[in-house]
Amino acid sequence: MKIHEYQAKALFARYGVPIPKGEVAGNVAEVLAAAEQVGYPCVVKAQVHVGGRGKAGGVKLAADADQARAAGQAILGMDIKGLTVERVLVEEAVDIRAEYYLGITLDRANQRNVLIVSAAGGIDIEEVAAKTPEKVIRSGIDPAFGLLPHQISSALYAAGIAPEAIRQASGFVAALDRAYREIDASLAEINPLVLTGDGRVIAADAKINIDDNALFRHQDLAALSEDAEDDPIEAEAHRRGLQYVRLRSENIGGARPAVGVIGNGAGLVMGTLDEVTRVGRGHGVGPANFLDVGGGAKAEVVRNALEVVLSNPDVEGVFINIFGGITRCDEVAKGIIEAAGSLDIHVPLVVRLTGTNDVAGKQILAEHGGYEPFTEFTPAAAKIVELVGATG
Ligand code: GDP
Ligand code: MN
Repeated sequence: MKIHEYQAKALFARYGVPIPKGEVAGNVAEVLAAAEQVGYPCVVKAQVHVGGRGKAGGVKLAADADQARAAGQAILGMDIKGLTVERVLVEEAVDIRAEYYLGITLDRANQRNVLIVSAAGGIDIEEVAAKTPEKVIRSGIDPAFGLLPHQISSALYAAGIAPEAIRQASGFVAALDRAYREIDASLAEINPLVLTGDGRVIAADAKINIDDNALFRHQDLAALSEDAEDDPIEAEAHRRGLQYVRLRSENIGGARPAVGVIGNGAGLVMGTLDEVTRVGRGHGVGPANFLDVGGGAKAEVVRNALEVVLSNPDVEGVFINIFGGITRCDEVAKGIIEAAGSLDIHVPLVVRLTGTNDVAGKQILAEHGGYEPFTEFTPAAAKIVELVGATG
């Protein structure tokens, strides 16, 4: 789960990390009131769940009320990588002498957490790592011993952090490490960590991703999740208890995400996405979503799934791929017929049914909906691609 910068900063502050004075604002009047509180010069920062806000124009300095108003007007409502800015963080501006990067994240390949430090902060760390890997110091954290004090100072020196900033920066790393473990984070990052003109060290940006599987241990943090869903269709799907991921053109090699996909079992759904992508390639179309109705899905679940998939305006056709095991094909068929009765299904629907009670399922679909379900997967995938490919 992603949280906003202002929320991450509030969390870090609990661990003793110094952060600039700041307030959140949702409109221009609130921006001005917040700026009065924190004082000028201040910085107005878009609160959206993506990095690179600075580059996108979502971070602006303001020396006075006129500039704060202009910054608020420019940033509120701005679109950053497909997300609309609804709130900004107004903070006292810090006087930047140097910008560093500090982060702790999971290193899957080495099966441990890793401390990452760089003196080339303020910009995208992936970019620094790609262009100048020698500027990024990585220090694996042995799970048996935790992050050791000598390890912290070695990493900071190796990264070339200014000697006068090392003691303060060590405190940041220790706090980051405690926060990372106690919050069950998968990423805790400060970029930039700023060395100010007068020799103070302060967190100018903060990012925390929380492991969703640990959220049950953090009731207070789970409350932030209302805010964490960026896509309204995904949010609605999750409210209905469905495993749904929306796919966009950039996720499927630039094709049109036109085929809504519903299946039972994550493996089958992933296989379905692959097959739709493969046969769709020649037609410029691909899958619009992942949706797993799970094992033993009842008619109601199938109806819900169809409703969610159809609420995506990109969808030009739906492919329902069911391999009946615990899931009974007749239940799935009932769900489709119920959905067809109550929803306006304005796009082609291709159903592949096989396995438990498939004969009964096919009969229900033929009698009540005039649908002719497929038994085999490959021709069914080809059919839905042909239907939506022809309309595009
Ligand atoms: P990001 O681009 O989404 O990572 O947003 P950041 O919060 O990291 O801000 C981007 C850049 O804006 C920073 O690297 C700084 O160069 C600049 N910036 C942010 N806050 C301040 C500030 O208080 N004073 C100054 N002078 N620059 C700032
Ligand atoms: Mn940043």
